[in-house]
Amino acid sequence: MRLPRATPGYVGVVFAAFLLSLPLGWLALSGAIDGDAYDWMVRLHPSQHNATPVVVVAFDERSLAATGGMRSIRRTMAVVLDRLRPNPPAATAIDLILADAGDAHDDAALERALSGYPHSVLACELLDDGLWEDPIPQLRAQATALGHVHANPDPVSRRLPLEMIHNQQRRWALSLEAFRFFKNASIEESPGELRIGGTVVPAARSTGRDLYIDFTNLSVVSVDRVLHDDAVARSLAGKAVFIGVTALSAAKDRLMTPRGESVSGVEVHASAFETLATSSFRVDVAPGTVLLICFLLAIAAGLIFLLLSGWTAYVVAGLLIIGAHLLPHLLFVNGYVLPYTAPFVTAWITVGAAAAWQYFVVRTQLRKSEGDKARYQQAIQFVTHEMRSPLTAIQGSSELIGRYNLNDDKRKQVADMINSESKRLAQMIQTFLNIERLTDGQSGVRAELFDFTAAVETSVRRAEPLADRKNIQIQTGHVEPASMKGDRELMEYAVYNLLNNAVKYSSPDTRVIVEVRRDASSLRVSVQDEGMGMDAQELRNIFRKFYRTHKAEASGEAGTGIGLSLVDQIVTHHGGRMEVDSTPGKGSRFTMVLPRGIVTFSPSASIPSHREHKTS
Ligand code: ADP
Repeated sequence: MRLPRATPGYVGVVFAAFLLSLPLGWLALSGAIDGDAYDWMVRLHPSQHNATPVVVVAFDERSLAATGGMRSIRRTMAVVLDRLRPNPPAATAIDLILADAGDAHDDAALERALSGYPHSVLACELLDDGLWEDPIPQLRAQATALGHVHANPDPVSRRLPLEMIHNQQRRWALSLEAFRFFKNASIEESPGELRIGGTVVPAARSTGRDLYIDFTNLSVVSVDRVLHDDAVARSLAGKAVFIGVTALSAAKDRLMTPRGESVSGVEVHASAFETLATSSFRVDVAPGTVLLICFLLAIAAGLIFLLLSGWTAYVVAGLLIIGAHLLPHLLFVNGYVLPYTAPFVTAWITVGAAAAWQYFVVRTQLRKSEGDKARYQQAIQFVTHEMRSPLTAIQGSSELIGRYNLNDDKRKQVADMINSESKRLAQMIQTFLNIERLTDGQSGVRAELFDFTAAVETSVRRAEPLADRKNIQIQTGHVEPASMKGDRELMEYAVYNLLNNAVKYSSPDTRVIVEVRRDASSLRVSVQDEGMGMDAQELRNIFRKFYRTHKAEASGEAGTGIGLSLVDQIVTHHGGRMEVDSTPGKGSRFTMVLPRGIVTFSPSASIPSHREHKTS
């Protein structure tokens, strides 16, 4: 089967489908799907970290119950810090909001514990009115640094802003401050990333320096054990310790992780630290790249249905769609987060559009070629039928000569009849050969110099018997004497066909006028009749093979609908074109416009006519 071409329609449809897929892929709903898809990928491709330096020291239910609950938490915190001080961690992040003054003794105890304690980070929060809520001054003065404790719950905490700036006050995240102490380095900023002692964090300022948190199983020890087990307290030396409340009854900040677990804030921050410590970074694929990926998918969809057909196309398109589903996974395991919806929506929609378009185009082509075949067969049947009448005449005449003793006059008459009928038969065969020659696109068209005027005369003479039967006069108007380089037989056939049509589709007792005129760039051969004419719709179709107007069908005139398509092809082969003017009920004028290049204007006498040429 011939493959469909990349028509502007096809390219347009695939491109329109691509444009349509863009807003669909970026809709708010897709954002939610992308989030779910991210969580799914997190669960499907779990991270494996080797032993990490972060430990959560948890105020769990048991510890709170044993130490006097949330009311005494500042005092207990002081005791914990005192326990750690002899073998201190490299960084200690305290996820407790200490913005209000508590019990004076407890505050004093915590102040004392913090004073001189190495690398402590206290929590601060942004209030709704845009102000930072810092620990009370007496505690803040003792802390080495402050870090914000915001995560992005939407409603799942996937990311965390490493930097927050409000009221011209910038705060790094609790985890980042702890990491800085852990690495014993400073934070170097550039628009695209942060550098902390050799660790490059791909957190661009343009995205709020968001960090995808890589949640894994943290090591958690209870405050209770730190207080009562020396070995546990000593084991925290040199580590990054995150102290906070994990007890369900007390923690106000419980968050969902992509892994589907509900965790406390301190665990989120400890996980963010772990992400930094293990450099398990994931970055969003840039929007421009997402667009490019979608565009390439659309092009691939278009090419598949252009270059392949049938089941192969559907199978390869299926693979493309599967590829669009797998691509986010492939990128995910390599640390890139590609939105899930945009590529697969693009792949589905463009594949659908390309498949539908090609399906309908192929179906229409198939129907058309089936129709053409059927009409061609009809035409063959018609012509073979037409051939019977000259054959019958020849047969009958030959029998007459054989059986009867005819006088000279009669014999001559019968012989003439045989001669003219066999010529008619030869003419029909010639027409068919012409059809073959032209439709097969063979370069069978001759290029010989011939007397064009004589060729027109021959055609007129050939059409006259038919015109006589309807008492139609074929008048020759102005005929510019000319010779032409081309195929005489085909040209005669073309002019004869126009004359034949003019006679066929006109009422008796009318006129047909033939003219050959020259203008600056061409030779114009026109055949004008006073017949039934055609409307604009019909005019658009008459050069199509096998097309016949309803009026022509109704007139009872025999026809195949091939003639004009051949005339058009003949004229085109000679570098010319056809023009038609027609008014329904008034008549038509068919003009062959032939290029000056193949025409020489000369008196016809200077070139021997076809007939003279033959007999000489
Ligand atoms: P056909 O064998 O039907 O004459 P053609 O290809 O020669 O086939 O012409 C196609 C159709 O164009 C005709 O069937 C007729 O409807 C229309 N047509 C051609 N010539 C004329 C004319 N001179 N006047 C009106 N209709 C014409």
